[in-house]
Amino acid sequence: MKSSLELKLTPAEAADEQIIHKRCAQKLKCPPDQLQIVVRRRSVDARKGEPKMVLVVDAYRNEAPPAEARLLEDVPAPTGPRVVIVGAGPAGYFAAMELIMLGCRPIIVERGKDTRTRRYDLRNLMQDHLVNEHSNYCFGEGGAGTYSDGKLYTRSDKRGDTMRVLRMLVECGARSDILQDTHPHIGSNKLPGVVENLRETLLRYGAEIHFDRPVTDFLVQGERLVGVRAGEHEFFGEAVILATGHSARDIFELVQRHGLALEAKPFALGVRIEHPQALVDQIQYRQCPRDPFLPAASYRLATQAEGRGVYSFCMCPGGLIVPAATAPGEVVVNGMSMSGRDSRYANSGMVVEIGPSDWAHLGDDPLAAVRLQKQIEQAAFAGDQRAPAARLTDYLAGKISQDLPRSSYVPGLRCGDLDAILPPAVGLSLRAGLEFFGERLRGFKTEEAIVVGVESRTSSPVRIPRDDEGLFHPQWTNLYPCGEGPGFAGGILSAAMDGQRVARRVAEAVGGR
Ligand SMILES: Cc1cc2nc3c(=O)[nH]c(=O)nc-3n(C[C@H](O)[C@H](O)[C@H](O)COP(=O)(O)OP(=O)(O)OC[C@H]3O[C@@H](n4cnc5c(N)ncnc54)[C@H](O)[C@@H]3O)c2cc1C
Repeated sequence: MKSSLELKLTPAEAADEQIIHKRCAQKLKCPPDQLQIVVRRRSVDARKGEPKMVLVVDAYRNEAPPAEARLLEDVPAPTGPRVVIVGAGPAGYFAAMELIMLGCRPIIVERGKDTRTRRYDLRNLMQDHLVNEHSNYCFGEGGAGTYSDGKLYTRSDKRGDTMRVLRMLVECGARSDILQDTHPHIGSNKLPGVVENLRETLLRYGAEIHFDRPVTDFLVQGERLVGVRAGEHEFFGEAVILATGHSARDIFELVQRHGLALEAKPFALGVRIEHPQALVDQIQYRQCPRDPFLPAASYRLATQAEGRGVYSFCMCPGGLIVPAATAPGEVVVNGMSMSGRDSRYANSGMVVEIGPSDWAHLGDDPLAAVRLQKQIEQAAFAGDQRAPAARLTDYLAGKISQDLPRSSYVPGLRCGDLDAILPPAVGLSLRAGLEFFGERLRGFKTEEAIVVGVESRTSSPVRIPRDDEGLFHPQWTNLYPCGEGPGFAGGILSAAMDGQRVARRVAEAVGGR
């Protein structure tokens, strides 16, 4: 017989399988040896008093828990139609995996390098300020997800099966606790290995993967799209899945050059804020140092300020701020963390929603929002990848900082005037929002916190439209815009789910299994 139980335990108890088992037996008044348990959900409740862990556990009395079939077992090697996928990010790789299960043969064309080789370019970026336009924190195998925090939650559960993505990641080497945690994450030190295992699986099932192949054109015969060109290389397929992410400006230009519909899309713009992690632990858990069994504390903040949404974005507790530029001459920041989330810093995007009125002065064509994004990133650049920053208290007082506390950002910071970089309306809302958050979280507004510019790649500034049902582009019905780039996902999990969804439509259309 199966029973579902909720347990509230101390962090140390929740980390001990035997204690969980014993507590379940006590609750069910049954001998422990008659019980097998499976932890389904794990979350922190720090609302009042000492933080507790809340566990949802399935307890099976005198029966074994059902065995989960592996997703990647006994899949016959595909022999069906060839499908070109541009981009080896979460959307591209998960589309490829799904296509294989549906009998199609994916050909993945990726501008960047495999995860290991990509690491050298990241080192050059961090230490020598050199931006490789094809290999950086956004471009390369695994996409923007590989050297990220690897947070795996989404607000768009309705778009797909989150568990199916998480199980696939576990089958490729991610820790199984991502299936239980309410806020699962993998970490930048583990993600490359998981991505490599995904690649090995794809190759084992006959996928082709071509690295160092930036796609430069579509191949069209008559009115029909037949493949893509990457320099002198051509790749042909029955359909093309375009999964190139939110930073592939060359792809937006390519789509426009072919006269295909696309439109400017609202996105969010602002800064990354960094606090000492110990301070965030103190604010959220009322503990310093925090209980070693508790995860690094995080926050999620949102408000309306001066007529615009202002919110925290992609918070990385125990993480690092990283340079996320994709071209020389620009500064962009983002955040990541290792699996242990054990750095001394906590960072998060603090961003303000922007829309058509913010880029109207740059034209009303579909790429006007990209131009605004580019302009701001270039304004943040002063010769190298050092990022403009200010102490939070100085920024709120409208002052340029004279000095800065230590930070996790390896290329280094410089005291900068963020008002000279961000549009005035964004600055106005951002300040009001930060003041509000400072009132809500006691200790948040401190001179030990810094704001760092600019956080500008929050989501795609362009939407490439697609048919609601068939998911293809309205003009070329075998072109499938997919993932974050065309505006259909925001994060690793939702991009992966979109990849799976698009792959199912493609397989139906081209005659997969
Ligand atoms: C530093 C950082 C940290 C992040 N942290 C998180 C997090 O913790 N959790 C989360 O959910 N999200 C996070 N994100 C966002 C997340 O990574 C993206 O939402 C997600 O990767 C989008 O997936 P995608 O497959 O749609 O696009 P991408 O991951 O952007 O992949 C697109 C791929 O297409 C390739 N490509 C681009 N142009 C071309 C071309 N012309 N020819 C061939 N290939 C091309 C790129 O090289 C890339 O590999 C983070 C992003 C960054 C940069």
